[in-house]
Amino acid sequence: MNGRTGVARPRTVDEVTAATRGLDGRIAYVAGATDLIIAQDGIPWPDLVIDITQVAGFNTVEVSRGFIRIGAATTMTTLSNHKTIGTEMMALARAAAKVGSVQIRNRATIGGNIASAMPAGDLLPALHCLGARIGILRRDGLHETLGFEAVVVGRGETCLGNGDLITTIYLPRETPKRRISAFVKTGPREVLTIARLGVAASIRLNPKLNRVEDARVVAGALAPVPLRMHQVEATLRDREIGQPLADDFLFALSQAVDAAIPGRHSQPYKRRAITGLGLDLLQQLFNREFDIPSVQAEPA
Ligand SMILES: Cc1cc2nc3c(=O)[nH]c(=O)nc-3n(C[C@H](O)[C@H](O)[C@H](O)COP(=O)(O)OP(=O)(O)OC[C@H]3O[C@@H](n4cnc5c(N)ncnc54)[C@H](O)[C@@H]3O)c2cc1C
Repeated sequence: MNGRTGVARPRTVDEVTAATRGLDGRIAYVAGATDLIIAQDGIPWPDLVIDITQVAGFNTVEVSRGFIRIGAATTMTTLSNHKTIGTEMMALARAAAKVGSVQIRNRATIGGNIASAMPAGDLLPALHCLGARIGILRRDGLHETLGFEAVVVGRGETCLGNGDLITTIYLPRETPKRRISAFVKTGPREVLTIARLGVAASIRLNPKLNRVEDARVVAGALAPVPLRMHQVEATLRDREIGQPLADDFLFALSQAVDAAIPGRHSQPYKRRAITGLGLDLLQQLFNREFDIPSVQAEPA
């Protein structure tokens, strides 16, 4: 390359492949640019920047019988306002609504949030607990679809190589619609903040029996990647909805914090914060209030 940055604005996936073919330099995709501009501060720009916001299908949400298909350049604003996402994938709608400010939400995209793979990325715990699968276009033109855990593999690390592109996010739908989900987060400020801690949960209900059948609970900003909390899930699974469930759930959440960050300076803050978040999460899920357990275990 000649040290200058080229720019491409493809309209189709084929044009993306054509733009990268034969190029031996560094490639960066750009969608909302809310992370890229900051990440580029003080470092040389890549050889080719590819704006993916005009690629056909990248800004659309399609609902079909088995899943919701979300284009990678779909913004937080679109996600948080989408009717079916708001009713069937509440965790994702709420997570998107909690990102940054209005201006950031109007630009920031779901694909950028995944590709940045930051521990505080709000969509990540929501996508993980909803069982998202992620469509990728490899640089050589091959398409593949991977589970969330195979894509986000470390702090700021993904399975994407130079020139690989996230194209699509698939969320499985359940029929009959007995799955509900929720997302809560805390940060230093309500607006324009990244999460210090976030929790997403997705549960399958048996409304007739007032029972939870199955649960997935994932914490954000507690580990390099979103942390699936299996012991917390066990306190919900096959349980009647009531205060005993809430007591066990909240206790297991604080134990999960102790196990994840023992001795870290943020441990006391996060184990207290997660109790409040847990209460809010239960309220979102079950639409009723629960009490804070009177006896809180001390840090291990
Ligand atoms: C003031 C401010 C507040 C913020 N608050 C929050 C917050 O509360 N919660 C939160 O989660 N985030 C927050 N963010 C971070 C940011 O907005 C999100 O991570 C956003 O979703 C990134 O999307 P983007 O489209 O802007 O990505 P871009 O900046 O365009 O790209 C980010 C990175 O991902 C790559 N990339 C983008 N799209 C793709 C793709 N389809 N395939 C492969 N690689 C791709 C780019 O090459 C780049 O490396 C904040 C950022 C700012 C500046």
